[in-house]
Amino acid sequence: MATKKPRISRATARRLLKLLHMRYKPTEIAAEMGVTADTIYRTYLPAGAPYEKDAKGNVWIVGDVFARWAMDCTVTNNRKAPKSVLRSDQVYCLKCNQVVAIHNPRKGQVNSRGVTNLSGRCPVCNTRVHRFVRASEYEGRYDQPQ
Ligand SMILES: [Zn+2]
Repeated sequence: MATKKPRISRATARRLLKLLHMRYKPTEIAAEMGVTADTIYRTYLPAGAPYEKDAKGNVWIVGDVFARWAMDCTVTNNRKAPKSVLRSDQVYCLKCNQVVAIHNPRKGQVNSRGVTNLSGRCPVCNTRVHRFVRASEYEGRYDQPQ
């Protein structure tokens, strides 16, 4: 099926984790998620959310199965979320909790996947900072002194 997964926030999906392995009405699931039952019927079910229909045509949602599906939707969305991109001379200082220009940077060994460790000092607090970078993007820069 080519249906697109809906966007479900991680907080919403987490609320569903307490649901049990039993049948819930779509209205109960909707109340738990803070959405309307309409959203369940029009968005989630067509998008592949797991549900069952009884002989009378009533829709039932098995709580824990639905919760797993919802969690899966958040993981997929997070993977697509754009990462904040650092400039090549920037690094995140864990002590200052901010992006800083790396001071006195040096590259380490390049591993088999072409990744190297760029290490240096934070210009603000002088703590050691480092970041993994693609070695090819730093060709001829920050080499260890011979
Ligand atoms: Zn710092």
